[in-house]
Amino acid sequence: MQFASLGSGSRGNATLVRYKSKTLLVDCGFSLREAEMRLQRIGVKAEMIDAVLVTHEHTDHIRGVGAFARKHKTPIWMTHGTRRANSIGEVPDCNEIIIGEQLKFDDITVTPFSVPHDASEPCQFLFSTSEHKLGILTDTGMITPHIVHMLNGVNALLLECNHDIEMLADGEYPPHLKKRVGSDYGHLNNLQAAELLAKIDSSKLATIVAMHISEKNNDPILARQALAEAIDWDFDDIHVAHQAEGFDWMSVN
Ligand SMILES: [Zn+2]
Ligand SMILES: [Zn+2]
Repeated sequence: MQFASLGSGSRGNATLVRYKSKTLLVDCGFSLREAEMRLQRIGVKAEMIDAVLVTHEHTDHIRGVGAFARKHKTPIWMTHGTRRANSIGEVPDCNEIIIGEQLKFDDITVTPFSVPHDASEPCQFLFSTSEHKLGILTDTGMITPHIVHMLNGVNALLLECNHDIEMLADGEYPPHLKKRVGSDYGHLNNLQAAELLAKIDSSKLATIVAMHISEKNNDPILARQALAEAIDWDFDDIHVAHQAEGFDWMSVN
């Protein structure tokens, strides 16, 4: 199984997962044109994407979903709540995610799981093949026992490190936004992400990428330090997804 990012952060998110014949796109928070450009950069043709799985209706995850699906006839998957809450318009093939029920795309099994976040019916995903598990966790305000359960034993983890507590407190966000981001239904800070790493069974974990890093309220160095310390890895072994370029293909091993 391989994965890549077209970009990650509050200005747009899109992640790719591929295995054998299937390529899945998780969210499309970039405009159609921007998404196509970014796909080209990592060698993927938009028409090769077999499905777009949407985590929730916030613009940084859904901006290009409708236009992408209409142009490329890509099947979309999202929860009932996400579908009701957004305006992606008419799309040719919209399917419902029922949280907890597995989806199969040939040899990839996708398990959607729920997260506390201020959206209508948000979820995140666990991808499994016969050999490996890849977990994606962003846009969650806290770590729940259910999240820990879902991510136990993953081989690779894409993990939100949205903000540093002090940088958020001292930063330029207005009070209501600071409160929202830091709340139990907002975004994970570096320490919460580190806490998750310490809680899950990480015996098979070989790859960690820090995701959804705030450009204003965090520094990738702080995120990497927090994660490396929590799991006793070298700083250099923690990867980072950037807003502008995401990251190129990596393998789950
Ligand atoms: Zn987001
Ligand atoms: Zn969100």
